[in-house]
Amino acid sequence: MIPYGRQDISEEDINAVVNVLRSDWLTQGPCVPRFEAALAEYTGASHAIAVNSATSALHIACLALGVGPGDWVWTSPNTFVASANCAEYCGANVDFVDIDPETYNMSVTKLEDKLKHARETKTLPKVVIPVHFSGQSCDMEAIHELSQQYSFRIIEDASHAIGGRYKGEHVGCCRFSDISVFSFHPVKIITTAEGGAALTNDPQLASQLNLYRSHGIIRENADRRTDGPWQYEQIALGYNYRMTDLQAALGISQVNRLDYYIDVRKALAKRYDEKLAGTNWRLPKQQIFQTSAHHLYVLRLPNDNIEEKAQCFAYLHDNGIGVNVHYIPVHTQPYYKEKNINYGQLKNSEQYYKSAITIPLHPRLTHDEQDYIIQHLKLALQL
Ligand SMILES: *Cc1c(COP(=O)(O)O)cnc(C)c1O
Repeated sequence: MIPYGRQDISEEDINAVVNVLRSDWLTQGPCVPRFEAALAEYTGASHAIAVNSATSALHIACLALGVGPGDWVWTSPNTFVASANCAEYCGANVDFVDIDPETYNMSVTKLEDKLKHARETKTLPKVVIPVHFSGQSCDMEAIHELSQQYSFRIIEDASHAIGGRYKGEHVGCCRFSDISVFSFHPVKIITTAEGGAALTNDPQLASQLNLYRSHGIIRENADRRTDGPWQYEQIALGYNYRMTDLQAALGISQVNRLDYYIDVRKALAKRYDEKLAGTNWRLPKQQIFQTSAHHLYVLRLPNDNIEEKAQCFAYLHDNGIGVNVHYIPVHTQPYYKEKNINYGQLKNSEQYYKSAITIPLHPRLTHDEQDYIIQHLKLALQL
């Protein structure tokens, strides 16, 4: 089966991890701060806090911004469930803003309409979490402008988008947001096995993120160590969301190849664009203000029909092509459906779901494999 995404591990990656195994520290050693410095350097953000997953990063990002019971957090329905669950962990209410039918990202017009309405009903969000779907950045400047007008904070879920650019700067630089989050799961652009990071330019947010990552414990304030030098203080309820040095060593090595990965993904995506042009498949569209990281290549069948999609999906799987679906709209998941948040009302994401299929795209995909996939995609239209 040709997977839709997979990691690329080099000999340097393996050596980097083995070197940590031979060292004194498996965790909380020198590699985590070095990986964080590499992420900050690459993106241009002032602070990077590495954690054990993007899900954890989203959770501590919400906590750092003070999300709690009674607050509203809005995100896109076209995302992995973690983008919404992070608010639920904090006891907040989740709501969804429908997607743009061209980019499949949160629609800025829908966001503005919803904010106008929420102002009247006094249910304005404390935090909005735009998701850079498939690696394409949302229109962050426009969302930031709305955040000034309606006083909400912004967490970018950039799990798909490390290596991408928005208006000339790297995604993750936090020019138009409070915090940006990356995922390093093996299917993403670079990997640490499990892993994630939260980036920010705000030193106070950085120290809050640090605090929640590790039990809410601080070791500063030497003057307050009245009992002795062993003393530490737990000042908040935090978690153990730390990344290990093994993972960070892999991450440092992977960041070195990040630009290469983006180039390869870009070339493969262009090849799909060219070879599928003129067929009845609806191809992904790119906004000119950004450069995608090309995490996912999502096609849409000619009709928004779930039965036709199921048939096509089965055909491709039977032929060894590991297509996938990103995403089942989060508000239609049983957990959220039960809360009856916008069920049946987010037409763009619900319609999109009926025809969207993710085809394989990763750095190890060969041209032969790609041609084989294209051949079967054409045949699949004749089912
Ligand atoms: C993968 C992903 C996550 C979760 O990442 P983990 O590192 O697996 O926790 C969150 N949001 C989006 C959009 C993702 O694609």
